Amino acid sequence: MEILHVSAECYPMAKAGGLGDVLGALPKYQEQAGHTVKVIIPMYRTRYLYRKEWELVHEGRQQVGFYSFSYSVIRERSRELGFDLYLLDINGLLDRQEIYGYEDDPQRFLAFQVSVLDWVSQWSHRPDVIHTHDHHTGLIPFMMKYAYAFRDRLQHIPSVFTIHNAQYQGWLGWQHREWLPAHDEWKSGLIEWNDQINPLAAAVKSAWRVTTVSPSYLDEIRQRSNGLEKLFEYEKGKCLGILNGIDADVWNPVTDPLLVTNYGIETITAGKMANKLALCKQFGLDATRPLIVYIGRLVHEKAADLLPEAFYQCLQHFGGRLNILLLGSGDPGLQTTFKEMSNRYVGSFSAYIGYYEELSHRMYAGADFLLMPSRVEPCGLNQLYALRYGTVPMVRKTGGLRDTVTDMGDPGGFGICFDQASVGDMVHAVGRALELYESDRVRLLGMQEYMMGFDHSWDRSALQYLQLYKSIL
Ligand code: ADP
Repeated sequence: MEILHVSAECYPMAKAGGLGDVLGALPKYQEQAGHTVKVIIPMYRTRYLYRKEWELVHEGRQQVGFYSFSYSVIRERSRELGFDLYLLDINGLLDRQEIYGYEDDPQRFLAFQVSVLDWVSQWSHRPDVIHTHDHHTGLIPFMMKYAYAFRDRLQHIPSVFTIHNAQYQGWLGWQHREWLPAHDEWKSGLIEWNDQINPLAAAVKSAWRVTTVSPSYLDEIRQRSNGLEKLFEYEKGKCLGILNGIDADVWNPVTDPLLVTNYGIETITAGKMANKLALCKQFGLDATRPLIVYIGRLVHEKAADLLPEAFYQCLQHFGGRLNILLLGSGDPGLQTTFKEMSNRYVGSFSAYIGYYEELSHRMYAGADFLLMPSRVEPCGLNQLYALRYGTVPMVRKTGGLRDTVTDMGDPGGFGICFDQASVGDMVHAVGRALELYESDRVRLLGMQEYMMGFDHSWDRSALQYLQLYKSIL
């Protein structure tokens, strides 16, 4: 099969979160299973762009409303990622430092989608499947079927749409519908939800199949999905939950070049301690105490707003018995609060505000516990990385966290789970972690060895996607 993935992120070229990780790994595993896989994302000005050699494969012209532009498609020459990575460049519109966060993001991603379809419709052959991801590429399944410029060539290609996060839907005022290429107006209901253009809803209605990144998340979005609950109920027949995997080559403590010391199951205690010592030294923490970390976006869905009060209470109740280290960026108020807390609780609490890939690896390795109190977690990759690095996940039972972590009180359990995204539940979970660390090291070691033996690589999930494609070919 020939599969084309269209996305806004792909690690290591561009990553803001789990979407980037998935697009950096799933295509590689699909290639290893014997298929031809191509990924196209916008050409941002990231470090990876300047480090690699690229070749021009296509040039074209398109327009969004009255804005007419030329675009080009380039391909990474060495194929070092294990699949073909293509970048689509639109001067002044896509070639920016950041992936998201610009006022004109709706136009940027619409221009990207239209250009991708223009490019694909000029291939001498057709891909077997076009797989799009999240709202940034959500209008593609609709345009393949109903935009006059593309439908002759593309309407019969099966489209799959994966929801990595249903909270963000790419809403656009209805008055902007002339930005879309000319299309069958009788079908314009497919792009509408609550009097707006809703690219996520458009994809759910128009794609041949829809997947979510964990089975539990598929159940949850029928109850809570930022206004789309009824749509997911109605379309449940074409939806399937497929759990994300991890790239076991990149996330491997035995070989990870970003670690201070590499380690495996046999060397877990010494290996983790060496990484912990380095981290604690860097952040002025005490390596004799347990190290609890948080890594992630500082946003409401991750319950980051509850962290200051939870950390404050932990430091009050358990002060002198633990370290907390946070890596994240997002809400400016929270960023300031965490910086202040770092100054106030020197020796017990520290925070690195920003995005720092290398540090995240060292934290998964050096930490004893990883806290994820998410309100919403479509899959969550952090807990899977934590498992691979022998770090006990402390998670709220929701979405993919529910599917991948079992509480240590349950048969075969290896993590610490709690029900509510609340300060009380978090403080209680930290109390359980301390008790385990201080009073039952043998059990802790047993849990670490057990979790490091799990196979959460993409092998199984990549197969599920391939089966899904085959079912619609
Ligand atoms: P989401 O995509 O909702 O942010 P996921 O758990 O699916 O959450 O994926 C988060 C990914 O982003 C993980 O690879 C995590 O290590 C990484 N990450 C999040 N915040 C940061 C940060 N500040 N620095 C480095 N990596 C980060």
